[in-house]
Amino acid sequence: MKSNLLFFFILSVLLTACGGDSANDAASSSASAEESGSAATGSSAAGEVAELRIEGNDLMQFNLKQMEVTAGQRVRLTLVHTGQMPAETMGHNWVLLAQGTDMADFGTKAAAARDNGYIPPSEEGKVIAHTEIVGGGEQTTIEFDAPPAGDYTFICSFPGHYALMNGTFTVKPG
Ligand code: ZN
Repeated sequence: MKSNLLFFFILSVLLTACGGDSANDAASSSASAEESGSAATGSSAAGEVAELRIEGNDLMQFNLKQMEVTAGQRVRLTLVHTGQMPAETMGHNWVLLAQGTDMADFGTKAAAARDNGYIPPSEEGKVIAHTEIVGGGEQTTIEFDAPPAGDYTFICSFPGHYALMNGTFTVKPG
C-alpha cells in the first residue's frame, strides 16, 4: 500500500518534470520525492537512477571507501577532482572491476595503458564501467547499469594510485 502510493507520487513527479516549464518546481518536487523514498523504504528502489558522487584529491585519495546501489538500478556516477594538480601528474579515474579481478595485476597492466586512459585493452572484459581521467578542477559523469548483487572493487587506475585509491561498491539485492 505504502509503496503503491510512493510509486504514484514518483510517477506524478516524473510526469510533472517531463511536461513542466518550470525546472525549479520539478527539481524541488524531485528532491522531496527522494526524501519520501528513503523514509518509506530505507533505500532506493530498483528502477530508480542512483546518483553517486565521488571525489579525488591531490593527496591521491578518494573521499569514499564504500558506495552502494541496488540491483536493477541505473547508476549515474560523477567523479570530481577537487585538487589542482594536472591530469598528467595526478590524474584520477574511477574503474569498477568485475568480481574476481586481481586488483594489483590489473593496476600493473593499467599503468602501461596511458594511451587508452589507463584502461588496458587486454583487461577490458574485467571492467564493468569506467570514467575518463580527470585533472584538478575537472569532473566527469558516466552512466551504467548496476551489475548483479554483490561486492565489487573500484579503483583509480592511474599509475601507482590503486593501492590507496580503492573501495568497495556494494550492489544490494533489488
Ligand atoms: Zn588517481
